[in-house]
Parts: sequence; structure tokens; C-alpha cells
Amino acid sequence: MGKPTGFMEYERELAQEAAPLMRVNHWNEFTQPLPEGKLREQGARCMDCGIPFCHTGKLISGMAAGCPIHNLIPEWNDLVYRGQWREALDRLHKTNNFPEFTGRVCPAPCEGSCTVGLNGSPVTIKSIEKAIIDRGFAEGWVKPEPPAVRTGKKVAVIGSGPSGLACAAQLNKAGHTVTVYERADRVGGLLMYGIPNMKLDKKYVQRRVDLLAAEGVTFVTGRRSANTFRRSSCLSNSTPSSCAAARRRAAICRSKGAS
Ligand SMILES: Cc1cc2nc3c(=O)[nH]c(=O)nc-3n(C[C@H](O)[C@H](O)[C@H](O)COP(=O)(O)OP(=O)(O)OC[C@H]3O[C@@H](n4cnc5c(N)ncnc54)[C@H](O)[C@@H]3O)c2cc1C
Ligand code: SF4
Repeated sequence: MGKPTGFMEYERELAQEAAPLMRVNHWNEFTQPLPEGKLREQGARCMDCGIPFCHTGKLISGMAAGCPIHNLIPEWNDLVYRGQWREALDRLHKTNNFPEFTGRVCPAPCEGSCTVGLNGSPVTIKSIEKAIIDRGFAEGWVKPEPPAVRTGKKVAVIGSGPSGLACAAQLNKAGHTVTVYERADRVGGLLMYGIPNMKLDKKYVQRRVDLLAAEGVTFVTGRRSANTFRRSSCLSNSTPSSCAAARRRAAICRSKGAS
């Protein structure tokens, strides 16, 4: 995994941030991604530690330690170091529905758990994650992948935040026919109406929503579920395991992709 001596040869480097006086002129993202050579060096710092804690995703004293969605971090660090970006993207998508969100807004408990960080600076995992997915979109590798077979079962997902979107993505991939109901006028929950553009530009949220729509997910906005149907009627019209109640009630959906 990575270069055996990488963590001794290369220092941790993060994306360059625009100067504050430049940032005040706009509301856009203000980081400049590292060039490819630098990113590969950063991947090389992953040191094949015996027990990588970065992807464990445990709660210790109520605090998250390691990646909550169990990203296969040492594997894609190694692939980035070797320049195998397409393979890195495939590994990343195995555990993460929306790396373009987590690569931008996740607080990165993985880096707090990185073994290199015990005696030095942790691997820049989050920047590498963002670089993999941004490259995937730039190269046209991320395409709609509708399921080959439909099960004939209908699913209602209530709420279109990252929990609902991840739930919809997984159930659609399994072949169910998914409709997402959202009370706001746009899809995305707090990704759209909470997190500011300078952290997560709305065009990235819309790009993923469009991709899910192209895969067969239907989105209905301006529809508050409680006003429309009771949860019990929702359950009777859909598969019981798949009816997601809004927000806090949608804990079942939080297992993947929550930022
Ligand atoms: C200002 C701000 C900044 C943040 N920054 C970060 C950050 O940098 N990093 C990070 O990891 N997290 C951040 N968060 C937190 C993050 O946005 C949330 O943890 C995340 O969005 C929760 O996802 P969710 O899908 O559970 O809920 P939400 O994103 O809240 O989505 C729930 C959706 O359900 C809809 N809904 C609710 N009830 C109904 C109903 N009855 N019928 C139809 N629709 C309904 C709502 O309209 C909403 O769109 C931030 C939050 C805020 C407010
Ligand atoms: S930054 Fe990425 S790899 Fe790290 S904890 Fe968040 S989602 Fe997982």
C-alpha cells in the first residue's frame, strides 16, 4: 500500500487556499486542488500500517473515529500513488454513493485516526478522495448506471437530504422503483439549503441529482409527506422495509453517504 518509505520522504500537503482578500469577492469554493504529481506523493504517504484505523468507523466515547462509511482508504491511496485513477474511483464507489460531497464537507475523522498521524502529520485522505471523484467526473467515467432488472416493487423515500438520496440510490440500484418526496422546492436537503456554496457548490448537488434521475429515480418536490399520506398508508403501498420516514426517522438510510 503506497510507497513503503513515502511517509518519510514527503510532507503532508493540502490544497492551496485563496487569500482572504480574494475570497471576499465571491461566494464560490476557494481551494485550488493539488496537481497530480503532488496528489500521488500524498497517496504514497499511506504506509501499509498493520492495522489501518482510518476506515474503521467506530464511535469512541460518543465521537466518530475512522470513516463512518468505511471507505477503503489504504486501497485507493495505493491506486492513486500508482496513477490508477479509474480503479481508485471504482474502489471509492464501492462504499460511498457521493464522494463529491464527502470529499468537500466531511470533517474527515479518517485523518484523525491515521496511523501516520501518531508521530507526524496524517495522510491527506479527504483531498485525495475529492481528487478521485472530481477526476472521475472530468474524465466522463461517472455515468448513469440504471439497474439491469426491475423488481416491480415501489419505494417512497421521504426527504431528499444525503440520507434520503443515499437510500434512494441503493434501493434503485437493487432494482426497486423509487420516488423521493421533498417538501422544499429543490432536492438535496441541507446540502442544497444549509451548507454554503464556498464549501459545496450547488452545481455538484444538482449534478448528482440529475445522475440519479437518469438512473431512474423520480423526484417530487414541494410535497410534504405528512400532508399527503400517513406513514401507515405509505407502508401499505410500498415495501415495508423501504419506506423512509423523514429526517430523524430515516436512520435506516443513514448507513451510506451521509455527510
Ligand atoms: C449551515 C449548515 C452547514 C453544515 N455544514 C456541514 C459540513 O460542512 N459538513 C457536514 O458533514 N455536515 C454539515 N452540515 C450538516 C449536514 O448538512 C446534515 O448532517 C445532513 O444534511 C443531514 O442529512 P439528512 O438527509 O439526514 O437531513 P437533511 O439534509 O436535513 O434532509 C432532510 C430533507 O427532508 C425534507 N423533509 C423533512 N420532512 C419532510 C416531510 N414531511 N415531507 C417531505 N420532505 C421532508 C427536508 O425538507 C429536507 O430536504 C451542515 C448543516 C448546516 C445547517
Ligand atoms: S473524508 Fe472521506 S474517507 Fe475520510 S471519513 Fe470522511 S468520507 Fe470517510
